[in-house]
Amino acid sequence: MIEIDILGCGEAFDPDRANSAVLVTAEGFRLLIDCGQGVPQAVWQRSDDAGFIDAVYFTHLHVDHCGGLPALVDHMAARGRVKPLPILAPDDGLDRVASALAFAAWPSATLPFPVPLLPATRQESIGPLRLATAQTDHAATNYALRLDLGDASLFYSGDGRPTNASRALMTGARVAFHETQAPSDNTPTEGHADFETVTALLDSQSLGQLWLYHTEARADATFAQKLRALGNRQIRFAEAGQIVRVR
Ligand SMILES: [Zn+2]
Ligand SMILES: [Zn+2]
Repeated sequence: MIEIDILGCGEAFDPDRANSAVLVTAEGFRLLIDCGQGVPQAVWQRSDDAGFIDAVYFTHLHVDHCGGLPALVDHMAARGRVKPLPILAPDDGLDRVASALAFAAWPSATLPFPVPLLPATRQESIGPLRLATAQTDHAATNYALRLDLGDASLFYSGDGRPTNASRALMTGARVAFHETQAPSDNTPTEGHADFETVTALLDSQSLGQLWLYHTEARADATFAQKLRALGNRQIRFAEAGQIVRVR
């Protein structure tokens, strides 16, 4: 079983919701996907343990997806972490991760635990989970990911419009999370997905469940009205605190 704990579902400048991030647990292994501002606090609400998170995956290195990293690792250092914290990220974002780690370690030169920086596209697994990635159409290099464990499968888009590669990757996933920044394809936001494009993926890619997140903060009413009109219970809006179990 794969368990997904939704830590945040907000867009970059959401005044209320924490930035989009999920905590994935499988066989006791905890993987944090993305860590924008507000996300470390959600992690600490769940545990004060230095070793609570086993690994981190960054879909991309925009601030709303990685800006919480210094605080996250600062807490781990303060609580006495010694075990390594592998971080997976796009190849062209690893320098940016290294900068955030150096910022957090100050005034020391390095953190008191090892942080292996791994190019996401070259890993085939994270803990017990099989990993595959595909690039989406976004302003920064963004790799959507698919995690498989037995028959359980999870797709998480990060930011960006679907591409042929990301559609292929999500095909048949039991549970898919897709960013849905724009409430309408009449007003698409460059490099982001919209309601019509994303909801069509349920059938076109044979998804079991589709969760929409990273929605435009001031369009809640429009999204809610459109989802009601669609009337499909396999499509839902993500909310912080929800737990999704995939078997
Ligand atoms: Zn974003
Ligand atoms: Zn982004």
